Amino acid sequence: MNLTEALSYGRKRLSAVGVDSPSLDAEVILAHVLGVRRIDLFIHPERRLSAEEIRTYRALVEKRCSRVPVAYITGHKEFFTLDFQVKEGVLIPRPETEFLVEEVLLRISGVAGPKVAELCCGSGAVAVSVAFFNKSAVVYASDISETAGEVTLMNAAKYGVEDRVRFLKGDLWEPFEAEGLRGFDVVAANPPYIPSGEIENLPRDVKYEPEVALDGGPDGLEFFRRIIAGVPRFLKPGGSIVLEFGKDQAGQIADLLRREGFGGIKILKDYAGFERVIAASLHVG
Ligand code: GLN
Repeated sequence: MNLTEALSYGRKRLSAVGVDSPSLDAEVILAHVLGVRRIDLFIHPERRLSAEEIRTYRALVEKRCSRVPVAYITGHKEFFTLDFQVKEGVLIPRPETEFLVEEVLLRISGVAGPKVAELCCGSGAVAVSVAFFNKSAVVYASDISETAGEVTLMNAAKYGVEDRVRFLKGDLWEPFEAEGLRGFDVVAANPPYIPSGEIENLPRDVKYEPEVALDGGPDGLEFFRRIIAGVPRFLKPGGSIVLEFGKDQAGQIADLLRREGFGGIKILKDYAGFERVIAASLHVG
């Protein structure tokens, strides 16, 4: 079997079971098996696969047929131009979360040695991107999951920011409280925000991702309530909060923020045109 034949096999197998992007997925899986870039597959399409490569490739195509996300198969996901390591147990970084990172970077640009807190850090994609693109930022990233800590630190090391990304294991503000950490310029979070009743309707792929990273309680707002109620203690006067949220949640989150004394509310739309990120700052005085 050569590369062209392998891609055609993968594409057919994946489309037969209704996977959304069969050509792309076949290419990504094959490139992963061969340890090359996707583009390299087309440079020598006549290159033949070894028996071992064919076996591995077929097995991974079958995994994808059962809807294991491609990022879990390859162990990588591109985010904010960087390449993050991921594995089962952490949410796969989504393109829409790039708007959260952009807003955090905007709010700390010009601040000398900014201190950033990120709650529910998962793979560390947000924390590491912020530390990588703002060379004086220090990011304290927390998550309740041990796996999140492991993956966050791996990604921080990969991008040489391990001295400026600290992982804190624990539930939301608890580790910040325990360590007496205060005075953040920006607090960011992409907490679980899917209403519990909607978890079962998620696409089959998403069901491989950790429910603890998705389930936001009965109305999906549970974590926003706890994050927003706690945040004033941890921010500098005039500091900001930046949050990612889900469908139809903007109004209620804006109300929660106003009640805690936040102003200057700004709402950003994602690539699909949906309201996805909210930012606000704590009134001074
Ligand atoms: N955007 C994710 C999804 O729709 C949800 C992420 C989250 O709950 N924070 O699958």
